[in-house]
Amino acid sequence: MLRARAAEVEPAEIGSKALRDLVRTMIEAMRRAPGVGLAAPQIGVSKRVIVLEDAERLMATLSPAARAEKGRAPFPLKTILNPVIELCGADEKSAQATFFEGCLSVPGMSALVPRRLEVIVRGLDEKGDMLEWQTTGWPARILQHEVDHLEGTLYVDRMLTRTFGHNDEIGQSFGSLPIAGVRELLRA
Ligand code: ZN
Repeated sequence: MLRARAAEVEPAEIGSKALRDLVRTMIEAMRRAPGVGLAAPQIGVSKRVIVLEDAERLMATLSPAARAEKGRAPFPLKTILNPVIELCGADEKSAQATFFEGCLSVPGMSALVPRRLEVIVRGLDEKGDMLEWQTTGWPARILQHEVDHLEGTLYVDRMLTRTFGHNDEIGQSFGSLPIAGVRELLRA
C-alpha cells in the first residue's frame, strides 16, 4: 500500500459518509501519534487524501533558534483532496533545506532529507472547494512528505542514506549540533 500510487478522490465521493469517516479517522490518528501530517495510504486507504496540522505544543521543546532555522510555526488543520504540489524556486541548493525528518510509517527512525523550501499546493478541501496554499519552511516540508506518500514514495527514498538512524541515537549524538556539522561528521 505504501508503495502504490493512490487513487484520485472522485467528485461523487466528496461529501460522502465514507470520505468524512476517512478524514476523521486520519485526523484522529495524526493527533494520537502525535504527528504533523498523515496520508490516507498510511492507514491502509489508497486515496489521494492528506491531513496536516502543526501546533504550539508539538514544538514546545524546540528553542526559538531551532524553530526559526526550520521555519517551523503552528498552522491550523488542513485537509486536502487530490493535492498537487508545485515546487518553487530554481532547482538549486539555495532553494532547498536539509533537516532530520521522520515518518509514522517508519517508526522510531529519522534521516536528513533535502526538501524544497517553498511550495504551492493546489487541491480541494473536504467540501470540494478549490484550495491553494503557498508556504515555506516546515509546512512546505510536511506537504512534500505527505504528497510523496500518494505516489508511493517515502522519505527513505530521498534521504541522505548515511544519516539514517534511530531517533534516540540521533538525538544523543547530534542533538546539539548544527546540520552542517552533522553532515561533516557523517560525510553525508
Ligand atoms: Zn510519512
